[in-house]
Amino acid sequence: MTCQRCHGLMHLAKWWDDISRVDVWMCACINCGDRIDRRILENRIEQCGRQRRAHHGGPGIHNITG
Ligand SMILES: [Zn+2]
Repeated sequence: MTCQRCHGLMHLAKWWDDISRVDVWMCACINCGDRIDRRILENRIEQCGRQRRAHHGGPGIHNITG
């Protein structure tokens, strides 16, 4: 995986989350220090999935002429 900001190499890092009091695994960039946690990754994956699913007009109205 490469950093979306600087395209540097990203490594998996463990991060202590003070709010939820759990260890969180996330990707951290060794170049600029940008971090992507699992929640952000999941959101990005979800957005990609939504974009792939193209709508074909939906059910119902079909304009048939001729
Ligand atoms: Zn970076």
